[in-house]
Parts: sequence; structure tokens; C-alpha cells
Amino acid sequence: MTKSSVIAELKALVIKEVEAQQKQLRELSLKIHSAPELGFKETKASGWLTQYLEKNGFAIERGISGLPTAFKGSYGEGKPVIAILAEYDALPKLGHACGHNLIAGSAVGAGVASKAAIDRFGGSVLVIGTPAEELFGGKAIMAEQGVFNSVDLAMMVHPGVYDAATTQALACIGLDVEFLGKAAHASAQPEAGINALEAMLLSFAAINSLRQHIKDKARIHGIITDGGEAANIVPAHSAGIFIVRAEDDGYLDELRERVLDCFVGAAAATGARLEYRWGKVRYAPLRNNLALARLFRQNMQSLGRKVLLSNPSKAFGSTDMGNVSQIVPAIHPDVAIAPKEVIAHSPEFAQAAASEAGIKGMLDSAKALAMTVVDLVANPEIVARIKREFGGR
Ligand SMILES: [Zn+2]
Ligand SMILES: [Zn+2]
Repeated sequence: MTKSSVIAELKALVIKEVEAQQKQLRELSLKIHSAPELGFKETKASGWLTQYLEKNGFAIERGISGLPTAFKGSYGEGKPVIAILAEYDALPKLGHACGHNLIAGSAVGAGVASKAAIDRFGGSVLVIGTPAEELFGGKAIMAEQGVFNSVDLAMMVHPGVYDAATTQALACIGLDVEFLGKAAHASAQPEAGINALEAMLLSFAAINSLRQHIKDKARIHGIITDGGEAANIVPAHSAGIFIVRAEDDGYLDELRERVLDCFVGAAAATGARLEYRWGKVRYAPLRNNLALARLFRQNMQSLGRKVLLSNPSKAFGSTDMGNVSQIVPAIHPDVAIAPKEVIAHSPEFAQAAASEAGIKGMLDSAKALAMTVVDLVANPEIVARIKREFGGR
């Protein structure tokens, strides 16, 4: 038997292995969908996922990196070490409006199906459970803790409205701001007050002015979380949460200083005192490994999907997979689960994440990921090429 026919046979086998899990993966992803849990509170989801992996022969470590809902499932030994990443956190009020329940299903499904490839060619497959993608950047924390140091490459598939092998995600950091002023009767003695709300409003005005003159793809957005107590009291306190994003880390550093100047200026203008805190976790821009993306794309196309090399959407967000992609070769392709006009983080997208198209996207993703594992363990030269593109370590 030639090597290519062994590979073809093994790919057919891992497809069958995903199909054999179809019922369980559907149930698992719908169960997670109907019990949405916010970042770092995903106890049910991480429990169900680790149980499933354990039952299917994976060795499980729970609570890795000091994060109770993070986990690592391992199968096999030695190189290459291939990580498949699962997300399972939901959004406040909207539930699974980012479809992370499907990411979870595709990751464990791919992991279990990949066992056939590991048994035949060696190497190891890890299914790494990464909590709190939306709000706290679980992967950024795990990357800092060294979870990916022994990993050769990392893959995951995210639900979207395009089938695309690569996508763009922005560097991103959060900013908490407070202004401290002085309360006074707003009518009887306005001259005695220092208006913390006005400082916040001026900051928004300054940011709006700044926004006209920033680079394409950069984003600044925020909300006011405290704007005072009563209309007849000069607000002594105001607070807001902001997010600053840019295409690369260098511009993010530049932009965050300019954003901060908007608040500093507003403090000077009003006499309110500024207090601020940059987010502990910073999302890095996503670095797509093209050699790995092309391999995944071929496998996904062989399942009858037409997959673009890059996502044409201008709807840029950020992902903590960016942080992983700066450490190891990585891909974060999109699988279409809804029509193009549906936007992520909407009730319609939450519906799509439990639809037949969603389940189909999850199963196809699991198949293509497992087929890519076949390519990787069977062809050390492909792994070497992927690492060369990344720059080695
Ligand atoms: Zn997401
Ligand atoms: Zn999201």
C-alpha cells in the first residue's frame, strides 16, 4: 500500500469516527447551548466535555493554569503535539450568540476521531479547554502560564457566516476609567461642585474627534457605567469601560496613549481627578499560519464546502487565539452556520448556533480537523514546513 493510499484510508476512517459520534456531539453542543455560562463560570460545560473525553480514552487534567474551568485532555505520546482548542463560554443576556457550543463539540469530536491517526502514526493530540474567550481572555492567561510551550501547533474552528481558512482579528485592550469630582446642589450651589459626569462626556467628545484621524481598522468604543445619582446633585463620581483595538501591537501602543490623553484632557478641563486601569489581559492580533490553513482548507473542501482562503468580512473583532498564534503556528478558520446578513453576538446568531446548519458546521469542522491531524502525523515534512513559516523556536 502506498503512503498516500494509507492516508486516504485513514481520512475516510476519521470521517466515519466523527459520524459515529454524531448523536453525542449534537446532544453535547445543544446541552451547552441551552445552559449558557459566562466566562470562568463554565462548570457544567467543562464537566460535560471532560467527561466525554475521559470516556473516550483521553487522560484529563482539570483546572489547569489555576483556572477551574480550563482543562487538558491528552491522547498519545511524543511529537508532533497537536492541540485542538475548545471554547464554551457564553455572552451576558445573549447566551451562545458566538456559537462557542459548536466550537466545543467540534473540538472534542475531532480529538476523539483523531485517535485513529495517532494509533497508526504516533504523536499526540490534545484537546485543550480554554474558558472565558469573550470577557477575560482565558487563552492569553494560559499562554502566559506556559500551556502551549510543549505544543507544536494549535487549531480550532469558529462559527461564522463564511467558510474561510483564515480570518483577521485585532489587537485589543480594555480600559476602566473613573472621574472623581465633588458633589454639590446642582441649582443652589453649582459653583461649589466638580462635575465628574461632564469629565466623562468630554472624554467621549474627545475620543469622537480622535476617531476621525486614526488608522483603518482601529476601534475605540465604550460605555458609561456610572453617571451620577440624581439630577439635582452635581455628580461626584463617574465611571466607564472602554476597549481600544488596532491592527497590530505597535499601533495599539500608540493609540492607547492618545486615548488616555482624551481622559487626561477632560480631567484638566473639569477639575475632576482621573483614575484609570488598563486591562490585565491584552488580546494579541491573530497570526494565521498559511501552510496549516491551506491544509485545513483542502480537507474542508473535500467534504463539499467551498472554502475561501481568507475571510472577506470587514467585521473585525478580537480573539484570545491571537495570543496562542504568537507562540505556536495556529489557525482559526471560520465555518458558515448562518446567512451572510446575520451578525455574531446577536439573537439570530444564537439561534443559528443551535440550528441544523450549526450542527452540520460543527460536524464538518470536526471531520476537517481530524483529517488535518492525519496529514500532520503522517507527514513530518508538512509539520516542518508549517514551523518554518512560523519561524521556528
Ligand atoms: Zn467567539
Ligand atoms: Zn464572540
